This record gives sequence, C-alpha cells and structure tokens, in this order.
Amino acid sequence: MDYELSPREQAWREEVREFIGEHVDEALADETRQRGNEGRGPRAQLFLDALRDRGWWGLAWPEEYGGLGKTALEQWIFIDEIESAGAPMLPLTVTSVAPTIMRIGSQEQKRDWLPKIQAGEIEFALGYSEAEAGTDLASLKTRAELDGDEWVVNGAKMWNTMAHHATHNWLAVRTEPDARKHKGISMMIVPMDAPGVSVQPIWVWPGLRTNALFLDNVRVPRSYLIGERGMGFYYAAMALNFERLSIGSIGMARRHFRALVDEVRRRVVDGRPLREDPWVRERLARLQIEIDAAGMLGLETAWALDQGRVPAAESSMAKIYVSELSQRIADVGCEILGLNGQLHADEARALAGGRMQWLYRLSPMLAFGGGTNEVQRDIIGFMGFGLPRK
Ligand SMILES: Cc1cc2nc3c(=O)[nH]c(=O)nc-3n(C[C@H](O)[C@H](O)[C@H](O)COP(=O)(O)OP(=O)(O)OC[C@H]3O[C@@H](n4cnc5c(N)ncnc54)[C@H](O)[C@@H]3O)c2cc1C
Repeated sequence: MDYELSPREQAWREEVREFIGEHVDEALADETRQRGNEGRGPRAQLFLDALRDRGWWGLAWPEEYGGLGKTALEQWIFIDEIESAGAPMLPLTVTSVAPTIMRIGSQEQKRDWLPKIQAGEIEFALGYSEAEAGTDLASLKTRAELDGDEWVVNGAKMWNTMAHHATHNWLAVRTEPDARKHKGISMMIVPMDAPGVSVQPIWVWPGLRTNALFLDNVRVPRSYLIGERGMGFYYAAMALNFERLSIGSIGMARRHFRALVDEVRRRVVDGRPLREDPWVRERLARLQIEIDAAGMLGLETAWALDQGRVPAAESSMAKIYVSELSQRIADVGCEILGLNGQLHADEARALAGGRMQWLYRLSPMLAFGGGTNEVQRDIIGFMGFGLPRK
C-alpha cells in the first residue's frame, strides 16, 4: 500500500485539525478523561453538538442516509485526530448500531430509528454479553417470546456499560430456543424506561462504571426486532466490525505519551534533568518507534477496508498491538516518573497530569474490549495464515 496521504486526505486532515483547534481545549480533554463513561459532561455535549451541526455525526454514513460517505481512510484520519486531541469520540450508537440498522433494518425500521439517532435523541447501550456468554456469545440465554404483537423479554445482561444513561438497549436475545445456538439469536431494541428493566452498577478498576442489566417480563412491540429473526449473532458481529477502526487507534496513547515526554523535558531528579538520562531517552525512543508502527497498522486496516476487503487479520493485529503498547507506555511512564508519576490527577504533586497511572489502570481493558487479545491472535492464525480454526 501507499502510506502517503493523497491531497484530498491531507486536506481532510487539515479540516479536522482546524475544527479541533476551534472546539477542543485542555478543559474538554480533562473532562472527557475524568468522566470516563459517567455520561457526558457539559463540555463534551457542546463538542458533540458542534460535530453534529457540522454534519460530521454521519461522517461514515452513506449519502442516501444523510451522511458524508467518507472512506475508511478518511474515517481513520478523523478518529486519529480526535483521539489524539483528547476529545470525545462519536458514540457507538452512531458509528456501530446505526450502520447496522441501515443494512439489516426494514424500510419502516430505518425510517423509525435513523432520524432519531441523527438528531441525537437516542443513545444505545450494547447488550451482547452475559455472565456465561462473552467470547462465546452464542451461548447467551436472555430470551424473548412473542405474545400477540409484543415480545416478552426475560434474562440478564452483564457489562452493559452505557445502561445508566442510555435511552435504549441494543439487545441480543434468544428467540428460537430449538435452533442451533448461533441461529437462535435476534437483535432487539429495548427502551430503558420500559417496565421490568433495571440496572445495577458494577465499578471496575480504572474507576469506570459498567452495569448488570435485568429484564423481567419486559414487553416491547413486535417491530422492535431489527432485521430477520434468528440472524442476531451475525448482526452483532456486523456491528462489532464497524468498531474496527476505532478499536485499533493509537491516537489516545499517543496523546498520553506526549504528556510523558513533556514531563521528562521539565523534570529534574536529584539535581539531574531526566532528559539527560540515557535509559530514559532510550525508552522514549523505543516507544516512539512503536507508536509510529501502530499508526501504520491502523492505516493498513483502513486501506484494506477501502479495497473492499474485510481486514480481519489486519484489524486484529492493530488491536493487539495498540492495546499492549498502551500498557507498555503506562509501565514505562510510571517507572520513569517514579512515585509521583503514580499519583492521581487531583494530587498537587502528580506528574504528567496523573496520566500515567490513569493509563496504567485503563489499558488492560483495551486488551479485551471488542474481543480479547487471545481470540484476536487466533483470528490472525486462521484468517491471516489459513491455519486450522480452533
Ligand atoms: C469494563 C467492561 C466493559 C464492557 N462493556 C461491554 C458492553 O458495553 N457490552 C457488552 O456486550 N459487553 C461488554 N463487555 C464484555 C466484554 O466484551 C467481555 O468481557 C469479553 O468479550 C470477554 O468475555 P468474558 O468476560 O465472558 O470472558 P471469557 O469469554 O470467559 O474469557 C475468559 C478468558 O478466556 C479466554 N478465551 C475465551 N475463549 C477463548 C478461545 N476460544 N480461545 C482462546 N482464549 C479464549 C479469553 O481470551 C479470556 O482471557 C465489557 C467488559 C468489561 C470488563
């Protein structure tokens, strides 16, 4: 592939940078990092409104749905710039669920849901995983049965991350109990305010909140089953495919690495500037090489998508590399900065804005979000090398 951006892609990068220059500042980046997934702060809301006003909400959507029809490479440029600036990313409702509804929904379903998504009125939590169904999603047990013109949903979902501020759940449910396990699942939209829906918080290590979701005789209209009955497993895989570009993006890690380098430039330890320490310099140089390599892997995934291929092996490589590199940056950062580098951002003596300890706690999550790295390695084996599937 040609790694040089075309004049059109370069111009697009400049346009995105200009927008970021106008709308992103440190206060927004801090709010985004500190709030994690605790709903949007006021600054993030203003930023996302500005993105929508600019028409960039539907950046990747085909033009027939009011989108801009940007190529995968142009989307990759956008993601890279936004993450690198520390601004909030477009919600998965827009980048993963909506494109899936566009492909699988009936005309009526598209007419019902897409304009509301475009107007920012709807936000989905993603309800795939259960306590006994993560990697092996097809084992899920939450079931939906037809009763007249309504589905009655019963069961429980685990790790339903956005449930506490979502308006709806994008839920994988078993509708065909007698079919083979991959064939018995359907995708359904469940409003969060429907009677029988309840949410219980689960706090995880980086201080982020996720949830358990309980569904007790929840009734939803028949038309809320999206696409074909029994095809839900494949629709869930399709929705996850749309996340490929952002999952393998190095933008966020690059941003924190920059903060580490800035701190090294300033910091003096025992009368000696850190920047003069050969070990520190060597470590930073190594990480910079790896960051650039990660960028190339992301570019290759985008390029393959634009060639009409499903870049399963490429995106798995990018995902593994970026997630493990983020952990290395945090490790090395904490080591270089010493104990003060491990303090929370709220502490006056925290170094690099408390970013290294934050990345240290967050980055293990990147290794299983969107599919665990063990499974990604298996995908590289059978999709990349044609080895037998496990
Ligand atoms: C903080 C957090 C947020 C999340 N948010 C969401 C969300 O919003 N929506 C949602 O639906 N899910 C969400 N998840 C769930 C996440 O996608 C799953 O945790 C993940 O898919 C792994 O599933 P599991 O936890 O059941 O682990 P398991 O599938 O039980 O895996 C356990 C271990 O075994 C390994 N393993 C399993 N199968 C294989 C195999 N075939 N080959 C090799 N190794 C294997 C795994 O790699 C892993 O190391 C979230 C999870 C967490 C912790």
